[in-house]
Amino acid sequence: MDKPILRRRILLHPFSWIGLLLCLSIAIPIAAQEKVDLATIERIETEAEQHSQVMDIASWLTDVFGPRLTGSPNAKAASDWAVETMRSWGLTNAHLEEWGPYDSGLADAQWGPFNRGWTSEQFTFRAITPRPFIINAMPPVGSPSTQGRVTGPATRFDVHSLGDMQRYAGKLKHAFLLLDPPRSTPAHFQPQARRLTAAELDADAAGQPLPRAPGEAEVTEIRYNVMDDAAALRWLAKEGVAALLLTSSGDGGMITMRGSAGTGLASVNLSAESYGRIVRILEKHIPVTLELEMQNTFYDDQHVFNVIAEISGADPKLKEEVVMLGAHLDSWTFGTGATDDGAGVAMTMEAMRILKALNLQPRRTIRIALWTGEEQGALGSNAYVQRHLRDWVRRHDGELSTTKAEYDSFSVYFNLDAGTGKIRGVHQAGNVAVGAIFDAWMGPFKCLGMKTVTLSDIGGGDNHAFSRVGLPSFGFIQDPIEYSRTAHTSADVFERLQPEDLQFNAAVVASFAWQAAQRNEKLPRSPRLSP
Ligand SMILES: [Zn+2]
Repeated sequence: MDKPILRRRILLHPFSWIGLLLCLSIAIPIAAQEKVDLATIERIETEAEQHSQVMDIASWLTDVFGPRLTGSPNAKAASDWAVETMRSWGLTNAHLEEWGPYDSGLADAQWGPFNRGWTSEQFTFRAITPRPFIINAMPPVGSPSTQGRVTGPATRFDVHSLGDMQRYAGKLKHAFLLLDPPRSTPAHFQPQARRLTAAELDADAAGQPLPRAPGEAEVTEIRYNVMDDAAALRWLAKEGVAALLLTSSGDGGMITMRGSAGTGLASVNLSAESYGRIVRILEKHIPVTLELEMQNTFYDDQHVFNVIAEISGADPKLKEEVVMLGAHLDSWTFGTGATDDGAGVAMTMEAMRILKALNLQPRRTIRIALWTGEEQGALGSNAYVQRHLRDWVRRHDGELSTTKAEYDSFSVYFNLDAGTGKIRGVHQAGNVAVGAIFDAWMGPFKCLGMKTVTLSDIGGGDNHAFSRVGLPSFGFIQDPIEYSRTAHTSADVFERLQPEDLQFNAAVVASFAWQAAQRNEKLPRSPRLSP
């Protein structure tokens, strides 16, 4: 290795060898209580650095199969690909596990129970008067198609109630209704991506929550919300409107998803700039004529799946016990589901690949789950927990649960759903007993920037599916790079992923899975949580 390369690696690379050796030597005294398998972790880091496939996995998930809306053909194709890929690595028991329509009152469903898949196949939207220009926009999930190409006037729809709408009666045929006021788009004086500082991480460990990453300002609804009033929507359909137009948060052409599922009217989310341009022309009393053609397809076939695969345990006494890693395969539709949560899927798959490539024989079984239905309220993970671990029955006199056989042999679940940023620590989620264990496991990564254990919980739907039934379930502290800004927007694409961070994270995840699979005891459980 010549000097410039060595220097570059020490300064820039997540696994500089000198850094790693330093880490490994420092890790030894910390590991006095909890045994840390430094030799294997070094092999994991070498594999993660020298033969990384994490970005290739991410490219398949986003470029080839994205977006991966639950219940869509894309999600199914991505799931089939994940099964085949993990089989080709030598993982066992790789299969799709159907979860079907899941109707538990316990899921924090945004849509209620999962109902329909949806895809957008064709979309063209432009102004034709006062002169032609392309409109930057996308249909939100659940919008119906237009009847071929529809043309009509852009109409600002300033209403305050259903009664107030009557003044538009007979005037809305083929109209495109601008439901929102235009949005301001201030300059960005804050950096759009940043790393957590040592002071912030220390404060988190001391019990003060991390500052929220600067996201985009939400659209403020200052008017009567037509979208929430079924009677108003029926009235608009009867009047023959062409489509409902909503402005997006974000700027620079980014389009942020805003719901329209179930309105029954063709809907379009416009970038703040395209929306603002139409409004500003109308304010000059110049009519704007719009032309829209979109073809969307609904899928009522309710076969929906989680992807499961594993490395079987080798210890006769412990092989029935399970250590799980998971992330959600499904995404919304505006981007290709890169930071949310292609990153998590790529990291967990890569962690499994690394463990298998090293031909490691874990004592416990290490299982990966790639969920769908997360964006609709963690439906896939809740269904898994219900089937395998603990079944909830809701009755008029309260909730009862039945523990399944696998519940007692379950060790721990690690969830990856916090974007592309580097892992800087781990959440204990109130489980005091795991603090010293995680601190020891972080030893080999401490001087590479991961050194914080915090009692707080990262939250997250799939994580909660396990913790709500009293099982140890944890997420990692990650730098807030690109996540709040891009999740659920048209900017959530492959280019937002940070290769070196993902490479480092895969090594951390593989290492945590390995440590959990090897220790003599399962991870300690918190005193049982109430659901
Ligand atoms: Zn997510």
